[in-house]
Amino acid sequence: MNENRAIADDFAVPSTASVHDRARVAGDAAPIISLRGLRREFASGDEIIVALDDLDLDIWRGEMVAIVGSSGSGKSTLMNVLGCLDQAFSGEYRFDGRDIRKYGVDELAELRREHFGFIFQRYQLLADLDAVENVELPAVYSGVRGGDRHRRARDLLTRLGLGDRMSHRPNALSGGQQQRVSVARALMNGGEVIFADEPTGALDSHTGAELLELLHQLNREGHTIIVVTHEKGLAESLPRQIELRDGAVVSDTRNTDAEYRELPQRHARLKRNWGVVDTVSRVFQAFAIAMRAMMSHKLRTFLTMLGIIIGIASVVSVVGLGQGSQEMVLNNIRSIGTNTINVFAGQGFRDRGGPRIETLVPADAEAIAQLASADSATPSVSANGTGLYRNISASVSMTGVGEQYFRVNGREFTAGVAFDEQSVSTYAQEVVIDETTRDTFFTNGENPLGQVILIGKLPLRVIGVVKSSTGFGPNANQLSVYAPYTTVMSRMLGQTYLQSITVRVADDASMDDAEAEIEALLTARHGTEDFTLMNTDTIRETIQSTTQTMTLFISAIALISLLVGGIGVMNIMLVSVTERTREIGVRLAIGARRGDILRQFLIEAVLVCIVGGGIGVALSLGISMLVPLFIAGLTVPFSAVTVAAAFASSTLIGVLFGFMPARSAARLDPVEALAFE
Ligand code: ADP
Ligand code: MG
Repeated sequence: MNENRAIADDFAVPSTASVHDRARVAGDAAPIISLRGLRREFASGDEIIVALDDLDLDIWRGEMVAIVGSSGSGKSTLMNVLGCLDQAFSGEYRFDGRDIRKYGVDELAELRREHFGFIFQRYQLLADLDAVENVELPAVYSGVRGGDRHRRARDLLTRLGLGDRMSHRPNALSGGQQQRVSVARALMNGGEVIFADEPTGALDSHTGAELLELLHQLNREGHTIIVVTHEKGLAESLPRQIELRDGAVVSDTRNTDAEYRELPQRHARLKRNWGVVDTVSRVFQAFAIAMRAMMSHKLRTFLTMLGIIIGIASVVSVVGLGQGSQEMVLNNIRSIGTNTINVFAGQGFRDRGGPRIETLVPADAEAIAQLASADSATPSVSANGTGLYRNISASVSMTGVGEQYFRVNGREFTAGVAFDEQSVSTYAQEVVIDETTRDTFFTNGENPLGQVILIGKLPLRVIGVVKSSTGFGPNANQLSVYAPYTTVMSRMLGQTYLQSITVRVADDASMDDAEAEIEALLTARHGTEDFTLMNTDTIRETIQSTTQTMTLFISAIALISLLVGGIGVMNIMLVSVTERTREIGVRLAIGARRGDILRQFLIEAVLVCIVGGGIGVALSLGISMLVPLFIAGLTVPFSAVTVAAAFASSTLIGVLFGFMPARSAARLDPVEALAFE
């Protein structure tokens, strides 16, 4: 330590600084601290303990006062009141002429931050911060710019002989060093009045004496210093001793020759950030604190996140899978063809399995095709049989269709052509096979075109190959072949009626009009309504509403897991608040606002949720990439909207479930929090 240089240089004593003696102090100048009839009671069970009993006390600027008394005499209680950590007193306390009782919590915090410095018996440094960061803390809450703050903290530490311990954490420092860090912290914002509660209590006698000398030096530089001690010897070395017994002053003595010096400037203020910048920089500070807290409990943080991760991943995946499977089914329907109406023989379920309805005939199809609202109509009739080619036989599903079937249903040819009108009218023995059928009968890449397959007893010549229809259900992997309906009806089945007619609605006609027309026509032709109309729109609507209901249902379950995740976050945050009670106490004591504490914990909760949400989104992205590998044709859409919604909801969860713990942290009483074990 440089003896010639003041410790807190901003407060170096210029020759003009006022120096006055005790007489003058006690005479005309107003005291900086003035208590009148101060009373502090504690309720302990049924009885009331009077810790401070009608206390009158004046302390002048530049004084160095010892408050002595045996254990339980009320020293700490008095210190907490003087330091504005405890406002639950009655009577009068004026600081610099201002009535403390009229101050709100944040105004008291400002007073502590800007005018006071605290030195505690147990140092009360924050374990996660290094020496410089601990010293900077009061200036963080006053909004001093980062650079200035840093420079001053390093300066103070250097002058207190800790130049080589700047980036040490408290647990890497000796007791005396830690106490000097806390002295630097007390001086950070000026330390106009320094409160030290048993500052040497935890130090050995040598370091204790050094610390006391340091306090003397600060006093000589003009700081008002109030030291609480139970050691008579220490007290007598100070210029003024106030002795307490049972909460009352029993003696107040001054050493006669003491001289008092005032701080030349009450606040040599460092430059402060202005309004919005200050708020933003304090948000960043809270962010950094939250990050540090998360990093120091990695496993716990991860486990807390797990609920959110699972919740977000399941919500995002379920919504994606729902959309994807709906899309897949709709694609299959689209392949059936749009704007088509299917006419089935029989009325709904009544005729299923009953006697065959034989009234739907090819002539109906021709009549429907004549309607203004119909573009074309293709009859269809189906039969099952065994296909035989050379020595390979397999059962095939035969559909007798009109020449327009392939166009109406959007079937794609990979080889050959469809049969034409001529083939239909001449009962041609021609067949179009799908790729599955081709691969079954024509192995070794043999060209199927022109070859003759025997289906049942009927030889049919292959004239075309169509792509197999995708989709599930009973038709998924069967061998599908298509012949003219006339051929199937007369040469294979020997029947005159159809199973269904597919009507392609004219481009300029509406679906409803076409349905009405067809219904009227067929009812007139058959004399009764022995048929069913079905259009792809109704099928599509049914599927859409079904998958939406399913998605909604599963999403609700996923949301519940998200909720459980949120409760997990709240639980851990409450634990974290309890665990860090003393840290919160320190922050409040050195002048953090309630809002600063609230923000710190809220940001931590939100951060846990957002990081968890991010991992959850990444996880569901992985799922969406894996799913198509296992289920062909199913793609899981992954939209920016989904991601944004996931992040928005995890932020919301963080705020919702973090608020309660954060508020309970912000509402802690600084005195109780500091004493928390
Ligand atoms: P000192 O610091 O001189 O040892 P304190 O100021 O801590 O004494 O305590 C003074 C009296 O007030 C003691 O009787 C103590 O038991 C009581 N007291 C202090 N704090 C509380 C509290 N939070 N609740 C109940 N009683 C308290
Ligand atoms: Mg005490």
